[in-house]
Amino acid sequence: MDFRSLMKALSSEVNLEILAVLRTGAFHPRELARILGRDESDVSRRLRQLERLGLVEGRWERDGERNVRVYSLKVEEIKISFEPEGIKANIDSRPFYETSKVGDDVPEVDTFVGRREEIELLRKCSEGVVVIYGVAGVGKTLLAAKAFPDSFWYRVSGVEDFEYIAWHMGRFLNSRGYGLLLDYMRSGQREEREVFELILEGIERTSSVIVLDDVHKCQDERLERLLTFLAERMKRGKIVVTTRVKPNLGTRGVLYIHLKGLKPEEAYELALAKGVKMDVGRFAEVYHLTAGHPLMLNLTLEGLSREGRIVKDNLFEFLFAEVYSALSSEEKEMLSLLATFDDPVEYEAIKRLYGEKRAFSVLYSLLRKGLVERHEESYYLHELIRSMVGRFSKPNPKYLLMYTDYLLEKNDPASFLKAFKYAVRSGEKDRIKLLTEIRLRRFKWVVNDFPNVYMKLLMEAGDNPYAKNEIGHIHFQRGFFERARKIWMEVKDELDGIHLADAMSSLADVCMELEDMECAERYLTRLEELMKELKDPEVRLWYYVERTKYEFYRENLEGALESAFEELKTLRDLEGFPELEAIVRLHIGDIYLGMGEVEKALSYYDEALRIAENYGLTFIKFLAYIELGKAHYYFKNYPKAVEFESMAVEYFREIRNYRHLVEALGYRAVAYLGLQRPSKTLEDGVAMIKIGQATNYPLSWGGYVFMAAAKAMLGEPFEEYLTLAKKHLSDNPYLYSAIIEELSRVFDVTKLQQGAFSERA
Ligand code: ADP
Repeated sequence: MDFRSLMKALSSEVNLEILAVLRTGAFHPRELARILGRDESDVSRRLRQLERLGLVEGRWERDGERNVRVYSLKVEEIKISFEPEGIKANIDSRPFYETSKVGDDVPEVDTFVGRREEIELLRKCSEGVVVIYGVAGVGKTLLAAKAFPDSFWYRVSGVEDFEYIAWHMGRFLNSRGYGLLLDYMRSGQREEREVFELILEGIERTSSVIVLDDVHKCQDERLERLLTFLAERMKRGKIVVTTRVKPNLGTRGVLYIHLKGLKPEEAYELALAKGVKMDVGRFAEVYHLTAGHPLMLNLTLEGLSREGRIVKDNLFEFLFAEVYSALSSEEKEMLSLLATFDDPVEYEAIKRLYGEKRAFSVLYSLLRKGLVERHEESYYLHELIRSMVGRFSKPNPKYLLMYTDYLLEKNDPASFLKAFKYAVRSGEKDRIKLLTEIRLRRFKWVVNDFPNVYMKLLMEAGDNPYAKNEIGHIHFQRGFFERARKIWMEVKDELDGIHLADAMSSLADVCMELEDMECAERYLTRLEELMKELKDPEVRLWYYVERTKYEFYRENLEGALESAFEELKTLRDLEGFPELEAIVRLHIGDIYLGMGEVEKALSYYDEALRIAENYGLTFIKFLAYIELGKAHYYFKNYPKAVEFESMAVEYFREIRNYRHLVEALGYRAVAYLGLQRPSKTLEDGVAMIKIGQATNYPLSWGGYVFMAAAKAMLGEPFEEYLTLAKKHLSDNPYLYSAIIEELSRVFDVTKLQQGAFSERA
């Protein structure tokens, strides 16, 4: 039982009335129903819910011949307090925590028959990975929901790739107190093996059960690799997979359950539960036809009330046609609506698309007939039913557009991606234009966070220039600069407005990355014109971001500073981008540091840190630590520098972000020289080299320079290390001299420099 259920229960008028009445004594549900003027079964249901929440308590009383359950109030007060770990509600010292909801709720299990052996097997098994496989509609999902009601549920929809799933796991594990996976994902890294390790660690530490429903839909083979990886190692947690296709995950640590139709007695139980009565002969026929397949049974039972001969070929189609033809036109319309989407559709959205008045009763009737499924507050068709409906009716494209509107109002990245999918399906070019604009303005991080999912959707949009412009962004983020430049060059003439401005700013950016400053300047000029023309703060921001970078590269620090302040000003107008607010401040700090204004640099780094802390931006907080350590190093406050860099080292090592880890190690290494502790410098140098060997990230080779200095300080031979540094950095003479320059703050570098190559050209 969770916080939300508690709050939801308390937000119901009827429940509050019930609680108020119970204050006066113990009541039987019927009596209570009479007092309240409500249906008895509804009141009973509410009482059971309130009992589960610990608000009321029931006890059996003898009433003449029979036992009746009477209810009374169990608590006097509920206390709600705001604590660091979340909002906390206390009922009789039983805490209910509010954690932000992640993942899907476990599907509701209303009618469930049989499967006792399977449930027994599932509850007892010691394997870390469980695979439930079998044909569509045989009951895999329902079985998993029944056996693992407290799991984290993830329904594979088919558009996502492995990263997307890893994000969701990260959010889930974070809500259970394990934050490293999420931090790792947020830092933009995606090393497969490391993601696997973090998932393993997270599930183990939190002893979680994760259900991945419909894994056959996932196209990404990394998911299968993850499962194999986990199977061999997991001890305390569990991953449950439902799929139509048995995956090959090896034999170690995996329990495979091949789910088949229900047994005759179970099938009979289902018929009874559905309120269908029939003689044994008739039942035997039905069972024989359906082989106990529950979805088919449901359809057959539904169709039984009508006449009609059952044909054995294409049984399912026949059954469906039988049932379908008996539906009202309203029901058919609802099926056609739901068949348009491959995700569950929220009740709120259905009301809007279908019309508020009849939505509920039509849905309810379809639900009862087993044609529609419910998941939380959403409704959907089982895939078998969906493909059938597709044969009987054409989807109405207006539903696609109306639903994208609905999704966009939700204003979160996952809904944005879903909206994008349906916008592409609608085939409306203008929709894609609108959605890419929304992405540029509101969902800036989608290209970093979900590059693969977004890429897949963009590819489906075909020859649309707005979509291609976005593809350029993904290439850019991945470091394919030439490819990105080519795309932007191709599409720029087909774009207008903010899209054109985006292409110009992107081109300026990519030209700088490719060290083509003339080209960068050309696009920057064009972007400036557009900024004046469009008067759009977003474009203004882009312009100044690029301008700052451009001036910094050209070592015009005054110019860079001026432009960075314009960025800040614009961000203030835009509001709501704390990440950018913090990052711009870090840049300003860097510029001041370049100018030798260490004091000012420090104050900007501090501000960035404060923002990061206020908004819980862990990653940026530690970036700020690196910079603060650097500033203290410049101040010759070496102990403080070591302190900041040590925190950063620990964090970036944990989230395995080597780029920043190397930076932090580098500054700590030189700070140790300042403290006259060369042996510590040697250690950090070795760590840097190890990273270099694994990643070939250029700055890592600076480790050799620092080791050389440490050796020299110890009076030991150092030439060998310097030679190695030069060898590895022969393509990066700038970097080499930058490293020497940083070193020169604590160390007389002339001692090393007999053979240093090409000083700053
Ligand atoms: P799958 O995941 O294998 O495609 P589902 O779990 O979605 O199948 O089940 C298909 C339909 O059959 C659902 O409507 C479900 O409620 C019903 N069903 C499946 N198993 C049972 C069961 N054991 N008892 C009652 N109904 C069941």
